Amino acid sequence: MSVFADKLSLTLHTLRRIEGEFSPAVFASSLAAEDMVLTDLILNNQLNIEIFSLQTGRLHAETLGMIERVKAHYGKDISLFLPDEQAVNDYVTRHGLNAFYDSVDLRKECCRIRKVEPLNRALAGKAAWITGQRKAQAATRTELAIQEDDVAHGMQKFNPLADWSEDDVWHYIRSNAVPYNPLHDKGYPSIGCEPCTRAIQAGEDVRAGRWWWENPESKECGLHVVDGKLIRIRAASVAAE
Ligand code: SF4
Repeated sequence: MSVFADKLSLTLHTLRRIEGEFSPAVFASSLAAEDMVLTDLILNNQLNIEIFSLQTGRLHAETLGMIERVKAHYGKDISLFLPDEQAVNDYVTRHGLNAFYDSVDLRKECCRIRKVEPLNRALAGKAAWITGQRKAQAATRTELAIQEDDVAHGMQKFNPLADWSEDDVWHYIRSNAVPYNPLHDKGYPSIGCEPCTRAIQAGEDVRAGRWWWENPESKECGLHVVDGKLIRIRAASVAAE
């Protein structure tokens, strides 16, 4: 068996183990390339794992379009979790729609309202959650394990693609005609909210297009927790979604 076939086999084995041993489990999809690999594996193998996405209210049209494309391709809906409307209105009234550019604190508060709180709602009552994170995505993820104890959320967290390379991801997508976000063809290796994501130049860190106006050390939005703590950033990469 090839190295890639081994990785694919292990990933499917991990997903089946999650389904069997950690029910109910959910998969947090940002609708990016890695997440589409996992979506394809979960839906084509009819695994009993709910797929959800955080509809922050600030996503690109291309990302929103992926929800319909998943429905058309697989005949399945992705569950959407929206931020609390009152909290969003209060933030915008007090600080302005794009106040996240003004300070790290206001950026984190926006992420807390639009991402962290809805994520916590999505994970409530679940035994495990799954992400599409990979070790090679950032210097801060080199220790990423396939299975982690997420103390903060009180459940297991799985990163089944931890050992996949970017080439592995795109090999799977092309080989299986998996639908993918067209932003990936426009210089966006990492995709988040529209006002906080830009295309990158050749040679830039893959995460350089996220919150690019901030000092790298302040970049995180609280979605990923290691040993009960938010990951702190030391390199030009972020540990978020
Ligand atoms: S990524 Fe930007 S727009 Fe999205 S929740 Fe965070 S600060 Fe708000």
